[in-house]
Amino acid sequence: QHFLLAIASRRHLNAYTQVFSEEALEKAAALDQSRKEGKPMGRLHGVVISIKDVISYRQHAVSAGSKILQNFNAVYSATAVERLLAEDAIIIGVTNCDEFAMGSTNENSAYGKVLNALDETRVPGGSSGGSAVAVQAGLCMASLGSDTGGSVRQPADFCGVVGLKPSYGRVSRYGLIAYASSFDQIGIFGQNVPDVAAVLEVIAGADDFDSTATSEAIPSAASVTDETALKPLRIAYFREALESPALDPEIRENILSLIEKLKADGHTVSPVDFEYLDYIVPAYYVLTTAEASSNLSRFDGVKYGFRANVDKKQDLIEFYKASRSDGFGWEVKRRIMLGTFVLSAGYYDAYFTKAQQVRQLLVNKTNLVFNQFDALILPTAPSTAFRIGEKMEDPIAMYLADIFTVFSNLTGIPGISIPLFWHSNGMPYGLQIMTNRFCELSLLQLSHQWM
Ligand code: GLN
Repeated sequence: QHFLLAIASRRHLNAYTQVFSEEALEKAAALDQSRKEGKPMGRLHGVVISIKDVISYRQHAVSAGSKILQNFNAVYSATAVERLLAEDAIIIGVTNCDEFAMGSTNENSAYGKVLNALDETRVPGGSSGGSAVAVQAGLCMASLGSDTGGSVRQPADFCGVVGLKPSYGRVSRYGLIAYASSFDQIGIFGQNVPDVAAVLEVIAGADDFDSTATSEAIPSAASVTDETALKPLRIAYFREALESPALDPEIRENILSLIEKLKADGHTVSPVDFEYLDYIVPAYYVLTTAEASSNLSRFDGVKYGFRANVDKKQDLIEFYKASRSDGFGWEVKRRIMLGTFVLSAGYYDAYFTKAQQVRQLLVNKTNLVFNQFDALILPTAPSTAFRIGEKMEDPIAMYLADIFTVFSNLTGIPGISIPLFWHSNGMPYGLQIMTNRFCELSLLQLSHQWM
């Protein structure tokens, strides 16, 4: 009841695209009853969670923020959703997002923009903007988002909450609508690190429906708050990242002061040369648009949701064109065209192969860094939350703002944004921390300690 009232009173934020009022109340009553009868309680008994509109929940609408999936109901649930329900969580609704998770501001949604609850003239970030605001404004306890290039960490940073992108393979992608399959991961928003850890523990792990989901040991939520595990750490940061002219000087100053504080606390913090900074955003956009052009070819007006109303005499190709032209928004079309171009004969080697080579260099670099260091720190984003509309006319400027988040998706390592700072403009922002692949436990432990 509390969360339903909160959602109703903040409707104008547009964080939710669907609210399952009746179903959530029924589930809460049933859980309460079973608790009173002394039946065992799931690990997330009564925890109220929202899910991003790219995560399937059986017999509920899922649209990926797109007109092309209008009136489409999921025919099965994502593994992550099944696991939440099996542990007695309450799914209260679906959160707004950029269409097919493509964007950094939540302005690319067919359901309209989402407002940042701390300053309603600003965006919440994206693409999981609705999930970030749902947690920020107290409209649920935790939320599932997806992170292909920063879509959990950057909105967490813009909204002042915690956002975790697990290692690639940590959480099953079964039932997650694909944007770029070799980058996508379901991530978690929470008010604090133990909450995020509690949800991760439930949704992580091997899955027969996703061969990339790992059987590595699942980080135990109880160990996250274990203070005895803490020891002086070797921490790296990329020199070029903190020197980048794109970075807001106040963010730079605050991170440099934090580095001094970490040193005073007994940690070793060292700069590492990162000669690839200028190549990570281009490599990310070449590879993800290529994967997206292939993944999104299934939306043809026949199999799912929306279909264009064309004259019966027109041929099939005309029908596809009409459905896709009308069903997809501008940003999605831009990426489908870009991805089709970089995969086309004659350009494949110049763009796609080249970007794959860059990706391999980044993986090699990551291995070198984590041979020597326990953790890597970076800003989450070069600035605080943008003003609504500020970056919409300039897609390249928008893409470049992903400079600090795409690294962990290109290399498959986990990353978290924790809200540590306030800017003089009144907005919060976070610190991004990364560890080696599948080292979420130490990532969560040190994040908890630093918050
Ligand atoms: N902002 C990035 C993009 O537009 C990240 C998207 C994501 O992580 N889903 O591609």
